[in-house]
Amino acid sequence: MDALPSPPGLTRTTCPYCGVGCGVLAAPDGRVAGDPDHPANRGRLCSKGTALGETLDLPGRLLHPEVRGKRASWDAALDAVAEGFRRAQAELGRDGVALYVSGQLLTEDYYAANKLAKGFLGTGNIDSNSRLCMASAVAAHRRAFGEDVVPGIYEDLEAADLIVLVGSNLAWCHPVLFQRIAAARAQRPSTRLVIVDPRRTSSAEGADLHLAIRPGSDVALFNALLAHLDAGGFRDPAFVEAHTEGLDATLAAARADAADATARTGLDPADLATFLNWFASTPRVVTLWSQGINQSETGTDGANAIINAHLLTGRIGKAGAGPFSITGQPNAMGGREVGALANILAGHLDWSVPGEADLVRTHWNAPNLAAGPGLKAVDLFRAVSAGWIGALWVMATNPAVSMPDGEAVRNALARARFLVVSDCMATTDTMPHAHVRLPALGWAEKSGTVTNSERVISRQRGFMRPAGEARPDWWIIAEVAARLGWGADFAWNGPAAIFREHAALTGLGNGGQRAFDISGLAGMTDAEYDAMVPTRWPVPAAGAAPARFFGNGAFPAGRARLVPVSHRARAEDDGRLTLLTGRLRDQWHTMTRTGGVPRLMAHAPEPVLAVHPADARGIEDGALARIAGHEGASAVLRLRHDAGQRRGTVFAPMHWTAQAAPAARVNGTVPPAFDPVSGQPALKSARVALSAFTPAWHGFLVARRDLGPGIADWAAVALAGENVWRHELAGAEAPAEAFARIAALLPVEGAEWARLEDPAAGLYRGVLLRGGRAEAALFLGAQHRLPPRDWLAGLLASGGSAPVGALLAGRPADGPPPSPTLCVCHGVSQEAVRGAIRGGACSLAAVGEATRAGTGCGSCRPEIAALLAAVEPVPV
Ligand code: SF4
Repeated sequence: MDALPSPPGLTRTTCPYCGVGCGVLAAPDGRVAGDPDHPANRGRLCSKGTALGETLDLPGRLLHPEVRGKRASWDAALDAVAEGFRRAQAELGRDGVALYVSGQLLTEDYYAANKLAKGFLGTGNIDSNSRLCMASAVAAHRRAFGEDVVPGIYEDLEAADLIVLVGSNLAWCHPVLFQRIAAARAQRPSTRLVIVDPRRTSSAEGADLHLAIRPGSDVALFNALLAHLDAGGFRDPAFVEAHTEGLDATLAAARADAADATARTGLDPADLATFLNWFASTPRVVTLWSQGINQSETGTDGANAIINAHLLTGRIGKAGAGPFSITGQPNAMGGREVGALANILAGHLDWSVPGEADLVRTHWNAPNLAAGPGLKAVDLFRAVSAGWIGALWVMATNPAVSMPDGEAVRNALARARFLVVSDCMATTDTMPHAHVRLPALGWAEKSGTVTNSERVISRQRGFMRPAGEARPDWWIIAEVAARLGWGADFAWNGPAAIFREHAALTGLGNGGQRAFDISGLAGMTDAEYDAMVPTRWPVPAAGAAPARFFGNGAFPAGRARLVPVSHRARAEDDGRLTLLTGRLRDQWHTMTRTGGVPRLMAHAPEPVLAVHPADARGIEDGALARIAGHEGASAVLRLRHDAGQRRGTVFAPMHWTAQAAPAARVNGTVPPAFDPVSGQPALKSARVALSAFTPAWHGFLVARRDLGPGIADWAAVALAGENVWRHELAGAEAPAEAFARIAALLPVEGAEWARLEDPAAGLYRGVLLRGGRAEAALFLGAQHRLPPRDWLAGLLASGGSAPVGALLAGRPADGPPPSPTLCVCHGVSQEAVRGAIRGGACSLAAVGEATRAGTGCGSCRPEIAALLAAVEPVPV
């Protein structure tokens, strides 16, 4: 448990982004490196992690408490929160209040929030944005094992002979884990990789098999697998007999689906057979899944279908074998551990198990403990809208963007009688609705713990002073609790005290019945907590921790349950397309942090809708397109033809906000449907109508000012360099008027416009010059095809100059035309990589040697691999 000494000037902490949970060495001067001693990443970082040093000075921080739009003292703000919650409960009862929290919170913050809600406010109405991420995996674990336990560890992925990624673009969403797999396969090329995903994502580059499955047919696929395994004699009879139940009913359901599996999944029969045979013949197989499974109306069934296959074959709890749910958020697992979801208690305790609520009640000295589960996310915001929730506290999350049925959620927030938002950022889409705004610490300032996807608890350590008057979330919660009369129960002097209380609870009444037991950490001193090294649970106070979960059975429920699940067909005959929402390689959630780093914006600087060319309704690649979904709600994005998109589907990232691209918020088009078991919203199954968006003009503005997205009917704004913003624009007015109006928004003192106009062709271009250097470039045209923006943006960022003719052409007078950035670490463009391949670079290593692309964090290597497969070398 002793800490490794930190290198001079650097602090050992943990990345705040995804559930891989990489260790980071960081310093206030912006130095950031992967922690070579952290078991999750062993020194690696992805593009987001390597850019953490560029996010330390985030503009847009919330620096002071505010009450009803006015700066307030902490005392006044906390009094207002306490009074708002007291009043709401007096009027509406215990359940007249709610908390909506986040996988961004540290475990200690999460624990405090849950204790306040369930223990003292006495309501189950606390849910987390993790509901949107992995609630279906939680429900599946509980159904199968009797407890929410992830049996796998990352080393299993390196020990496996077959890795199946289901609904997971690991290369983009958990890049370091994907790099670990790539490195292991390079060492042992016989390791097979199978991708199950309607899209041909970056993860599919270099895979042995890509199953472009029909969305929503995962249950049919894994039922076909189960039936095949059983029929082929691949059942582990001793394991099944000794450790499971429910076999007959589960097999009956599987066989019913298997008969028609190719039609249900839409897969090529030969590909399906290959997958079934590979799985059957490979003892060491890991099936890893993520949001592609979870974010569905059948998400829990899909996860159980995967687990069923592993239970039948006894491929669980062994090196290189097991079902493996991977979480999106950095501390989704911590939230599960402290019970910050509406339907679970702290410490993996459960209302439905006699005596367990009493354990919590006693531990917390909380006689008013909530009587049962509360409202899950979708229902919670409905209740706010209906006026049943009189006080809502949103912590460290941005539901105005991330929830489905976005317009209804924004209306609910606007209608909320009393809304508190605590966040480190002042500029989220949720924040304007808040009656009380509370500044929370940012990543570099916080101290506590997080748990990653392989159950490793890591310390997050602050290494910078709090910005403004920002305070820890746990402190804010404790201060509100004190004002409500419960000060003695929240009288922690720091996160270590909260962690001890949390750890002690996990051991209460736990004679090995509950897998989650970290009571062995409950006696840590503050100094030991400060020095804590990454530690995988369980850590029981008494007895030895199992080296692995479930290899020898020993399921929390006694026997594991094979859960009978059946394919449920989706209606797909309405002429519309299925919208798959997801993430981009270099962005995190609603871009409040990653959106402030120009090199992270370079890879995908505007919202894009990927569609198979045959589904494009005649809309050209690069034109704007509208998708219309739930109750007519629509979004407009740049359309990209992508032959890797399954017919009948479109893909769009969920990152864009009102701050950057208000018309491109795709979650507004998604109905509030959810999995009936887990309550997880079905964010990947909206049906949308695709049509052309035909404005009078298209354009872009590159400028040294952020003019915001309000300057045109459609706009997307992105940071393109230090103090340089790129505005993608389109509008309905006459282009000449639009040009004059937008140009007038820019400062002209000491500057003048150089222009190129051809009204007959609808072409208006101008460059604002001051002292021979470009201050801004505004290009408008009747067509969407306009010069690339990268060169102009780079020129403004560098303060360089160029001939006016080149500026108005949008490309250098000599040299190659600009092309989009592929490798953000070294700023290498797609065209440079193509050039290297044409010149004879025929491997990742050769491309790296020629261009440096792929030699940094490695997140771009799958895209380089795709170019290697697509671009022909030029014969010499
Ligand atoms: Fe952070 Fe990237 Fe590691 Fe995820 S994979 S924890 S985003 S460095």
